[in-house]
Amino acid sequence: MLEQALHMLKQVYGYDRFRKGQEEIIGGLMEGKDTLAILPTGGGKSVCYQIPAMLLPGTTIVVSPLISLMKDQVDTLGRLGVSAAYLNSSLDAAAYREVVRQTVQGAYKLLYVAPERLDGTMFESLTSQLHIPLIAIDEAHCVSQWGHDFRPSYRQLAGWIGRLEKRPPVAAFTATATPEVSSDIAAMLGLRSPNIFVTGFARTNLALTVVTGTDKRKYLREYVRQRPDQSGIVYTATRKEAEEVCADLTKLGVAAGKYHGGLSDTERAEAQERFRFDEIRVMVATNAFGMGIDKPNVRYVVHWQMPGDVESYYQEAGRAGRDGEESECVLLFEPQDVQVQRFLIERSTADPERRAVQLGKLYTMMHYSRTEKCLLQFIVGYFGEADVPTCGKCSSCLDQSEKIDLTEEARKALSCVGRMKGRFGVSMAAKVLKGSREKRLLDFGLDRLTTYGLLRNWAEKDISDWLYWLVAEGYMRISDGEYPTVSLTTEALPVLEGKVTVLRRRSTAVRRRSEGAAAGAENAPLFEALREWRRETAAREHVPPFMLFFDATLKEIADRQPVTTEQLLAIKGVGAAKAAKYGLDVIRIVRSLESGARPEAAADSIGEGAGGRTGSPEAGRAASGSAGSGERRTADAYPEAAALLAETAHLATHAQTLALFRHGLTLPQIAGLRGMSRVTIENHLLRCADEGEEVEWNAFIPGEHEALIVETIRRVGAQRLKPIKDELPEEIDYFAIKAVMAKHRLGSAG
Ligand code: ADP
Repeated sequence: MLEQALHMLKQVYGYDRFRKGQEEIIGGLMEGKDTLAILPTGGGKSVCYQIPAMLLPGTTIVVSPLISLMKDQVDTLGRLGVSAAYLNSSLDAAAYREVVRQTVQGAYKLLYVAPERLDGTMFESLTSQLHIPLIAIDEAHCVSQWGHDFRPSYRQLAGWIGRLEKRPPVAAFTATATPEVSSDIAAMLGLRSPNIFVTGFARTNLALTVVTGTDKRKYLREYVRQRPDQSGIVYTATRKEAEEVCADLTKLGVAAGKYHGGLSDTERAEAQERFRFDEIRVMVATNAFGMGIDKPNVRYVVHWQMPGDVESYYQEAGRAGRDGEESECVLLFEPQDVQVQRFLIERSTADPERRAVQLGKLYTMMHYSRTEKCLLQFIVGYFGEADVPTCGKCSSCLDQSEKIDLTEEARKALSCVGRMKGRFGVSMAAKVLKGSREKRLLDFGLDRLTTYGLLRNWAEKDISDWLYWLVAEGYMRISDGEYPTVSLTTEALPVLEGKVTVLRRRSTAVRRRSEGAAAGAENAPLFEALREWRRETAAREHVPPFMLFFDATLKEIADRQPVTTEQLLAIKGVGAAKAAKYGLDVIRIVRSLESGARPEAAADSIGEGAGGRTGSPEAGRAASGSAGSGERRTADAYPEAAALLAETAHLATHAQTLALFRHGLTLPQIAGLRGMSRVTIENHLLRCADEGEEVEWNAFIPGEHEALIVETIRRVGAQRLKPIKDELPEEIDYFAIKAVMAKHRLGSAG
């Protein structure tokens, strides 16, 4: 039997040997075993059912959801001399009837069918007249709710198979199934003790790379420029990005094309054809592109943004190197992309269960972007294939950067998560380690944990990043579900017991702040340069420096060194308005002081965000206008402020005050704009602080008196304000006292 199969492989396809798994799968099917085969894209699934179909008497039914793929397959088989046809909605009634007629007469060895067709009476009557030796189900993960591409029409399959008079063996194929999805497929299709194959996921001709913290536009330009003769795909998350990236490459003289759901069918078909014929060298596309494409010589796939799950990523990336030649897959990852995917998930489904599944998958994708393990092993392991050696060519395998010992920090984090007993998520754990005063945290009494505030000197974002890294490395796990919680795995124990050390590559490691200092020592010059710039600009605009950016924001800029508007916007305290107004300046300073400075790169790649729309001079004045005057103004007097008001209108009233304050408005201005008393506005800030928000109290505290105020409160007690005020110099107002209390957590003066 297998000799015959090998003969077919040579004779029909012209291939000398089977790929991993093919032989076993074909052998099982020929013996009549139900089969579940999980092979990666390009792994050669079609051969697995086409060869048995040719060898067995009768007509094999192939269920496939992809109309374009069906046509391709039937055409290809035709050229190989194998008779095949398809039934789907692209046929008109007459053509449909003709295919049915020919099928009954035994004209085809394979009949491809769209799942929607299975329920039609015509189809039922057709199958009752046929000898069906095998049913092959392509893209079988579509039957599973836990998969990433559930299609309700697939749910009809089990019913239809059950109604067949003589049930033939059923073979389910997919490129993307986790162990959980596999068992669901087997159950939903009613497979009978199937042979299960998970194999060939390790596409060893693919070099996987994750690139993070880079200027994507610049990176891509350079990347494409260095591969002038190669065909590649760039995947973006949105149509708009596809348009922009395509335009950018075209400007460089690259033969780029675009493909997304916003184009007409003809435009898309034309783009696809031109890509196939290498007239388009780089296709910039959303995930609408690729279903059913079998272009063998795609040399690279670059993801402009992280997709929502590993399944999609590997499927899309796997379109590189289908001819087996060395090819590259690059994922450009920025932490804020996670938010984009989260948003897409929330918009795409209202079903909480589906949403939870998708969010779980998103976390795994995020771990891929952060892991220091072999990237190929990571993916292959995700699909349930074990014992694959490290690839030796992914960005993790090639990372030679020094490893830093973070055992102590790991123990702090793990012991904190351990104490939280799996009841909270990563962000709450980060808050506890940070020592946040957020209300929810206090309500749960988490400030009483001994681990509270253990990483006080880290930025909260960096703590989260650290926790996710520990998850990616297997020390902790995140539960599925809409409110995923974090807990320890057994791997954590040896760390907690001090038996193993935890090393992290410098390339991915958090830059730790030096205790108390303005910024990490290595960034001190940058921080100073930013402060100097702020001082000058503020003087020019006649506003106090903190109205531009708070120290904390400058510190974070110095730490993270953003070089694009996108990165700048990810920094706490930088909103759209400030990025537009000051982004260009800030990025220029960052670049000029970057380690191994690239001064020529000052402005060319900043993007429309900061470069194009520099804020109007009015905007600056709006913020400075009537500082301290307290007079009532309408929003019209400050064009930027009006926009800010509208932008923040959805917030709770006290949160809106804080947002305006963070944008640089003074309290009298906010009071004026909102038509509220100054005291109300002050109370808003106090309430925000109670709820755990950080408020820049220094803005209200006369620095030279701060120590005195603290000392007085300690001495007189914090129960009543008046006695404190009486002890202090006249010019110190009540709010300054309250600000000191809040800043130093000296208890409330009710
Ligand atoms: P899948 O459906 O798993 O994505 P295909 O069945 O389209 O993959 O196969 C991918 C490519 O590999 C096709 O061009 C196919 O002809 C080729 N192929 C399949 N089996 C073999 C083999 N044993 N040797 C060489 N090439 C093969």
